[in-house]
Amino acid sequence: MLTEFRMPTYADHEAATSYQFWRLLQRTRRVDLVHVLPGAEGTRTGERSRFLLQLANDLLPQNPGMVLEDLTAVTSPPIPVAAPKQEVVADKAPEFDFNSRANQSSALDSELDEVMPSGHELMNDLVLEKDHGMLDALREVLIKGLSPTGLNEYLNCSLKFYFNRIARFREAEEVEEALGVDGFGTVVHEVLEELFAPFQRSGKPLTAAGIPDLIKAAPGLVAKALRKEEDDRHARADEGLNHVLGQVATQLVRRYFESLLTQPNALPLQIQSIEEGLQATIYVALPSGEKLPVSLIGFADRVDQLPDGRLRVVDYKTGLVHAHELKLQKRNETPAEAAERLIREDTSAADKVRQLWLYRYMLEQGGRPAADAAIISLRNIPAGPMSADMSFLTADGQSFMARSEELLSQLVNRILNPTEAIRKTDDLEKCQYCPYRGICAR
Ligand code: SF4
Repeated sequence: MLTEFRMPTYADHEAATSYQFWRLLQRTRRVDLVHVLPGAEGTRTGERSRFLLQLANDLLPQNPGMVLEDLTAVTSPPIPVAAPKQEVVADKAPEFDFNSRANQSSALDSELDEVMPSGHELMNDLVLEKDHGMLDALREVLIKGLSPTGLNEYLNCSLKFYFNRIARFREAEEVEEALGVDGFGTVVHEVLEELFAPFQRSGKPLTAAGIPDLIKAAPGLVAKALRKEEDDRHARADEGLNHVLGQVATQLVRRYFESLLTQPNALPLQIQSIEEGLQATIYVALPSGEKLPVSLIGFADRVDQLPDGRLRVVDYKTGLVHAHELKLQKRNETPAEAAERLIREDTSAADKVRQLWLYRYMLEQGGRPAADAAIISLRNIPAGPMSADMSFLTADGQSFMARSEELLSQLVNRILNPTEAIRKTDDLEKCQYCPYRGICAR
């Protein structure tokens, strides 16, 4: 059928690839082609590419000036991950010298032996020491502005933090057919922002009478936000999975507004701000005696004014969140232990509480103390706004601000601690959707 209608076939694709390969080689002085040996242990490679065979058997005899070196590099077997920790500094990592001949692989092995622990212990092969350059870069990030997301990123994987915020490795802009989780979240956030904006601007509370209009406007706003997001990501407009995501977003928004009609004390809803940019500065005492001005920044999805005049900062989540996750202090735990988990734990529950904690801190430093910080999970709408319990911060009589500053200072000192290197996370699950998996070989 393709041939009949003169459309490109598999053979045409092959021809185009072949043309590009040979065209790239033209006028080059040196080319390194790397491949895994056919049948190499643990791999599923087939035979050598026909291009390599053509090079050796066709191009070489025709070109007296061409030198072909066929080299083999050997690496040690894979290292088990769960073995005891031993850190190897990145700048000591072995370099593969592809100029060496195959029979020099024993030299390469001994080079590897120098940096690899014997007995196949864990080789944490990407550890960056906090030298002067690194500490300066970290200080710069802290002074310029650290968001709750950034802080969570550091605690979850300091190497990811380094790639993202210091080295600034960016993902190549690619055509994504489907919007993905973050795109979906952006769409829902934008729609809620647009729907609430008139109430925030006018200062009038949202009442039951206003809900039907919001529900009616939701599909149109979802379609608009979806189109914008699809354009930004070069995704396929309202097709396939994206169409389904649009339908789901509309349904979530509709169900959220319907729930306001039945939840006790949800209405009238007085909205003080939406997508408000927050900022705060704390002066952290470093061991050198210096007071480092650390800037905290972030965007609060919504700040509500409760009927008694107190404020509530709200964060929307399009994923499933349960109320118990937001209780960091477990049974039989002291407030001090819970506080320690607030600045150390790298679970998603701790991430959420930390985020709300920092929003509360920033609001209060700006003179608007929030009595409550809550998450609205659009996958758990019946739960309503779920408050993060932060009573452990003030349990020993300290003020919320003083205790928060104390804990933030500990966190900043940890980030700037030269003995705590930048390294990969031990939790492989965190690597699953990390854009740097390729670099980390995870
Ligand atoms: S792949 Fe894993 S170890 Fe590497 S940066 Fe990402 S989260 Fe960290």
